[in-house]
Amino acid sequence: MQYGSIEAGGTKFVLAVGDESLHVLVKEQIPTTTPEETLRRCTAFFKAHPVAALGIGSFGPIDIVPQSPTYGQILATPKPGWQGTNMVAYFEKALLVPVALTTDVNASAFGEYQAGAGKNDDSLVYFTIGTGIGGGAIQNGAFIGGSGHAEMGHAFALPRADDDFAGSCPFHGNHCFEGLAAGPSIQARTGVPGQELPRTAPVFDLISYYVAQMLFDAYVNLRPSKLVVGGSVLSAAELPKVSAYFEQFNHGYIAAPALADLIVLSQMPNNSSATVGDFALAKRALDVG
Ligand code: ZN
Repeated sequence: MQYGSIEAGGTKFVLAVGDESLHVLVKEQIPTTTPEETLRRCTAFFKAHPVAALGIGSFGPIDIVPQSPTYGQILATPKPGWQGTNMVAYFEKALLVPVALTTDVNASAFGEYQAGAGKNDDSLVYFTIGTGIGGGAIQNGAFIGGSGHAEMGHAFALPRADDDFAGSCPFHGNHCFEGLAAGPSIQARTGVPGQELPRTAPVFDLISYYVAQMLFDAYVNLRPSKLVVGGSVLSAAELPKVSAYFEQFNHGYIAAPALADLIVLSQMPNNSSATVGDFALAKRALDVG
């Protein structure tokens, strides 16, 4: 049996076909243009490489509540033409296979849960820290959430006393993690893109401070077995700083497991957590029928 994956991003769609072991057999990338053209190219790809079921991890916000009348739709996105697009309905009709839809970050969380950092655990919270920040939580194979998908990047954050950055979130300014610690905040503070800065730059200590806040909140709220961080902003160099701040916030309250085991970077090779997560969600959609 073969399974399909669509990583639907704002600038590109990554299409892939995987086997029963969730290994990638074919992969192709197409630019995100109009919904009509982009989805037509996806269909052509999966007609050429047939799959038994399809998993989609999409940019959001999207309606992933199956009982909702707008289930499957992309909601209020600034991306021209995409609002109201229903990829579930479209691909069920175009490919005649079961389609599973979740957020891009939930798909990555599921990939890590199945085959990466959480493969031996019953629970994890996965964060991606890149252009934006998102988080997804899994407990015993189920995503946490009922009325919609989690928006952990927009959880309330406390700016550090020495940080006068106004924040880059149009909704929450400097009082959410995305506004304080996503990639664009680094360039806004320093004038230089994060990837051009040495990891010793003070801004990475500040980012570590906010990441530790976010992880600590997730930990006390959900007590997952793993806190997994993906995305381009954080590197292994920051993990000791993140752990030190995490301990500072905990202040000896919870006897957490060794932080080097609890807080880990994405364990999936070649950035494949979302692809593998999509395959696994497709496989599950087929099993559920
Ligand atoms: Zn926000």
